[in-house]
Amino acid sequence: MLLETLNQLEADAIIFAPGEIPIFITPGVETLGILRDGKIQSSELLATVRVVRRTNFRQVGEITIPRGPIGDGKHELTVTIFPLSKDDLVLVLVSDESEVQRVHDVRRDFVANISHELKTPIGALSLLSEAVLGSKDDPESVVKFATRMQSEAKRLTDLVQEIINLSRVQDSDPLERAEEVSIDYIIREAIDQCRITADNRKIDVTYLETGETKVLGDRDQLIMAIHNLIENAINYSPENTKVSITKTKSDGIIDISVTDQGIGISESEQERIFERFYRVDPARSRQTGGTGLGLSIVKHVAAKHGGEVKVWSVENIGSTFSLRLPIYVPPMEITE
Ligand code: ADP
Repeated sequence: MLLETLNQLEADAIIFAPGEIPIFITPGVETLGILRDGKIQSSELLATVRVVRRTNFRQVGEITIPRGPIGDGKHELTVTIFPLSKDDLVLVLVSDESEVQRVHDVRRDFVANISHELKTPIGALSLLSEAVLGSKDDPESVVKFATRMQSEAKRLTDLVQEIINLSRVQDSDPLERAEEVSIDYIIREAIDQCRITADNRKIDVTYLETGETKVLGDRDQLIMAIHNLIENAINYSPENTKVSITKTKSDGIIDISVTDQGIGISESEQERIFERFYRVDPARSRQTGGTGLGLSIVKHVAAKHGGEVKVWSVENIGSTFSLRLPIYVPPMEITE
C-alpha cells in the first residue's frame, strides 16, 4: 500500500532498512546521484537519517549532490525524512524545489538581457523601413536597404532561435529522462551541420573515429553543444586553416576537444566568453551572425550532464575548447 502511494508521488523516495540499506527506491533516485552502489553519497543526508532513527521525529533539510565527478553542476534537493513505525524503516522524500527557484531567478535576469539584445535589430529594421519608404523613387537604394533588412531579419530569427535553445537547456534536466548516447554519432552529426559554413570558409574539419564511447543524456543537446564549438572554431579562424576534433578518455571522463588555428582569445577574456551575450569583438561576432549565446549554451549543457567545458587559447595561434563528460558504464559492467 505504502509502495503504491510512493510510486504515484511526484517526489522521489527511498526507504532505508537499519544500517541505511536501501530497500525501495523510485527510478529518479538513481539519476539524482543520492545513492551509489547502494550507499548514501551525502554525509548531510546520512547524518539526518541517523538523527531521525535516534529521535523518531521527522526532519527536513537541504542537500547538495554533484551532478557528476567533474564540473560545477549540482542538484540542490529538499529532503523530508520520516520514521516509519514498521521494522525500523526510514522514509526519505526528495524534491527539487530549489531548482524551481533557481530557474525562476535565471529566467528573470535572462528576460532583462534579451530585451536589450532584441532592441538593436528591431531598431535597425524600423530605421531601414523608413529609409525604403523615403527612397521609393530610387530603385537602387530600395534594393540596398531591403537587402540590409533581410540580413537584420535573419539576425533576429537566429537570435530568437538561440534564446529558445538556451532557455530549453536551462529548464530541462537531461539526466531525468536520459538515454545512452554514442559520442561518435553526436560528433558526426555536429560536423554535418557545420559542413556549409566550413566549405564557405575553406576550412578542413577533421575527426578520426575511434572505439565506441557512450554518455548518458540528451542527444540533441549534446549535438547542439559540439555544433556550437565547431561553428565558433570555423568562424573565428582565417580561411584555409584546419579544425580538428579529438576524443580522449581517462578516469571515467570522455574529453571531446575542438582545436582551431584561429584568432585565439586573451587570458582576461577567457573567463567571460561563457557569459550570456558576451563577445570579445561584437563587430566580428555580428559579421559571422553570432548571437553571443553559443558558449553559454555549451556551458549549461555540460553542467546539466555532470560535466564541464574548458578552454585553452593563445592569441593569433588558436584555441582548444574541451567538452568533458562522465562516460556511461552500463550497470552490469561495473566492477568492484
Ligand atoms: P558568438 O555567437 O558571438 O560566437 P559565443 O557565446 O559562441 O558567441 O562566443 C562568445 C565569444 O567568444 C565570441 O563572440 C568570440 O569573441 C569568442 N570565441 C568563441 N569561440 C572562439 C574561438 N574558437 N576562437 C576565438 N574566439 C572565440
